[in-house]
Amino acid sequence: MRALVLQSPGRLELTDVPRPSPAHDQLLVRTEAALVCTSDINDVRRNPFGIRLPVVIGHEAAGTVAAVGRDVRGFSPGDRVATHPVHPCGRCDSCRAGMGHLCSAMEHFGVNMQGTFAEHYVARSDRARIVPRGLDWPVAALAEPVSVCLEALAQARVEAADRLLVIGDGPFGVLIARLASRLDLAKVVIAGRHDFRLGFARGAVPVNVRKLGEKARAALRAESVRPSSYDAVVLAAGTREAASEGPALLRPKGRLVVFSAVPGSTPIDLFDVHVRELEIVGACNDQDRLDEAVKLLGDDSLRLGELITHRLPLREYREAFRLAEQAREEAMKVAIMPEEHGAGR
Ligand SMILES: [Zn+2]
Ligand SMILES: [Zn+2]
Repeated sequence: MRALVLQSPGRLELTDVPRPSPAHDQLLVRTEAALVCTSDINDVRRNPFGIRLPVVIGHEAAGTVAAVGRDVRGFSPGDRVATHPVHPCGRCDSCRAGMGHLCSAMEHFGVNMQGTFAEHYVARSDRARIVPRGLDWPVAALAEPVSVCLEALAQARVEAADRLLVIGDGPFGVLIARLASRLDLAKVVIAGRHDFRLGFARGAVPVNVRKLGEKARAALRAESVRPSSYDAVVLAAGTREAASEGPALLRPKGRLVVFSAVPGSTPIDLFDVHVRELEIVGACNDQDRLDEAVKLLGDDSLRLGELITHRLPLREYREAFRLAEQAREEAMKVAIMPEEHGAGR
């Protein structure tokens, strides 16, 4: 079958690999849509997590069950499924404590399992959910992005009447802002650098910090109603500037949720954390939010399909990655759909 293999940093190739066969507890899934994620782009550029190469990359996907392992119950060939890339071991201390998303021995699509930019992939059946017929494939492939965004909001512990700031206008920032708009908060503000992307954050107040330049902090403070007083800030941009700006915009005892991976060491003013009793909390993967996420995929009020701006066949992977990485005034989420299913733009 055709698959997108990361041979070495910067060297992504469409090539033939053996079709995987499902283990006793796995499904073989015919890929219908796989989405390009920021972490795929980072892996291709510089492999920050030190993935052992070569590997078929990709992890946000949905498709049709093609075969099931002998111990699988509840799925049959032809079922339409969304899958989650994280496969906890179930045995380590984190797993036994109910934190499978922080498993020390997890398997993960595109890391130590075959990824989803391929005509077929395998997933353990407990990491798959049946999705409604009629749900658009790229939207079904948003199951894991929605799960991790729900986790970010859970870590923010926002309640009605709270004010939330999301920093970052990439697909995750926009998704977090959209999901937050269902929570009846007093205010959701999203800070970003691209009007096109900010426009996708329905229900949130957009602030273009690139246009405002040095006035950005004051503008964000003004939007919080009381100066310097967001109850929570979600960091959905992986830059050091965003990381150091976030805490400064919190109220005393406010929470900074570190959702993005910020490379290198980050300047955070710990004196400020001390005197204003700020909280800094990570949000990485999600703790069992797949069922909730799959329910939301079909929620018409969220209109998640709007986020899928491009659909390309596997053979146009270079263009798919270019759009996802560079076309910030044109693309949001880019879906790769294997050509055998006749995908078009
Ligand atoms: Zn992802
Ligand atoms: Zn584990």
